[in-house]
Amino acid sequence: MNEIQAENYSVFFAEKGFENLSQILANGGYSKIFILTDSNTTEYCLPYFLQRLETTLAFEIIEIEDGEVNKTIETCFEVWSVLSEYEADRKAMFISLGGGVVTDLGGFVAATYKRGIDFISVPTTLLAMVDASVGGKTGVDLGGLKNQVGLFANPQMVLVDVNFLETLPGNEMRSGLAEMYKHGLIADISYWNRLKDLSNFTTNDLELLIYHSITIKNNIVLEDPKEKNIRKKLNFGHTLGHAIESYHLNNDEISTLLHGEAVAIGMILESNLSLQKGYISELFYNEIKSVLSAIFPQIQLSEKDIHKCLRLLVHDKKNELGCVNFTLIKENGEAIINEEVSTEMIINAFTEYLS
Ligand code: NAD
Ligand code: ZN
Repeated sequence: MNEIQAENYSVFFAEKGFENLSQILANGGYSKIFILTDSNTTEYCLPYFLQRLETTLAFEIIEIEDGEVNKTIETCFEVWSVLSEYEADRKAMFISLGGGVVTDLGGFVAATYKRGIDFISVPTTLLAMVDASVGGKTGVDLGGLKNQVGLFANPQMVLVDVNFLETLPGNEMRSGLAEMYKHGLIADISYWNRLKDLSNFTTNDLELLIYHSITIKNNIVLEDPKEKNIRKKLNFGHTLGHAIESYHLNNDEISTLLHGEAVAIGMILESNLSLQKGYISELFYNEIKSVLSAIFPQIQLSEKDIHKCLRLLVHDKKNELGCVNFTLIKENGEAIINEEVSTEMIINAFTEYLS
C-alpha cells in the first residue's frame, strides 16, 4: 500500500509504516521517546508495537485510563507532569498509540508541551484510522462538551496497521465503519456501493478500504484544512448525530451510543432531510436507511425525546431556533454544505425514522 501524502506529513501502512517510523526516529536527533497508551492499548497493542519498533533510543510508557470521560485537561496535566518529571526536552518524541481519545489528547499534549514537540500517531481503532488521526485536529473535552479546547497540529507521520484491529470489539469496529459509509455518501458513490454489502469483503480487503477512506478524508482536508467551508462536508450525519449522542450521554436511563452508532442514525435522518429538499430520490433514501439500519442499532425516541434532541442541537450549533445549518447529500455521492433546514423538516425526519 502506497503512502498517502497529507498536509506536511504522510500516512504509511504496515511494513512501510514501521520502516518510516524507524527512519524518523533514527534521523530526527531525538533525545527520548514517550509512548502514550490507554489501559486497553497497553494490553492489546503495546506488545506488538514494541516488538516491531526498531530504535536505539530509550523510551517511557505513559498510560492513561481509557474512555471519552478521560479526554480532559486534567489528564493532559498528568501527562505533561510525567513528561516534566522525566525531564523531557524539546527533542523528545511523543507517540500516541490508541484510539481517537489517545490520538486527540496525545497530539494536543505534544503540540503544547514546551510550545510543541514532535509527535506520531499510531491509531488502533478503525475510527481513529479512518478519521481521528488524519486532518490535524487535536484537543480535549470540557465540562462534558466535546473538543472544546484544542488546536490544529500535524504529526510527523501516521502509522496504520490493520493488525491492531484484531482485538477491537465488534461495536467499536461498527463505529468506525459508520465514518466509512459517510465517506462514500459525501464523496464517492462507487465506494458506498462497495460497502453496501459487507458479506462482499474479507479482512484482507479491510486495508484497502481504510486506505480509500483516509484518501477521501485527506483530499477534503487538503482543500480546507481549517474548516472554513469544504471541510464541513465531513459533518454529514454529525449535526443530528451529535445531538443524539449527547442526549444518550446525558440520560442515565438509556445506554450510551458510540459516536459512529449515533452518526449512522444521523446519516439516516439527514438523508431524509436531503430527500425533503429534493436532492435525493425516495429510492436512494430507502437504500441508505435499509443498509444502515441492518448494521447499526435502532433507537426509540418519544416526542419529548425528539424535542430534547432539538434543544441540544440548537445549543450545539449556536443557532436561532427554527434554522440550523446542515451538510446534506445528493444522489451522485456529493455533499452540499450550509443547507438551512427548518425545525418542521427535522421533526418529519425523526417521525419517518421511527415509523
Ligand atoms: P477510543 O479512543 O475511546 O477507543 C475506543 C475503545 O477501544 C477504548 O476503550 C480503547 O481503549 C479501546 N481500544 C483501542 N484500540 C484497541 C484495540 N486495538 N483493541 C482493543 N481495544 C482497543 O475511541 P475512538 O472511537 O477510537 O475515538 C473516538 C474519539 O476520537 C472521540 O474523542 C472523538 O472526538 C475523536 N475523533 C477525533 C477526530 C479528529 O479529527 N481529530 C475525528 C473523529 C473522532
Ligand atoms: Zn465522526
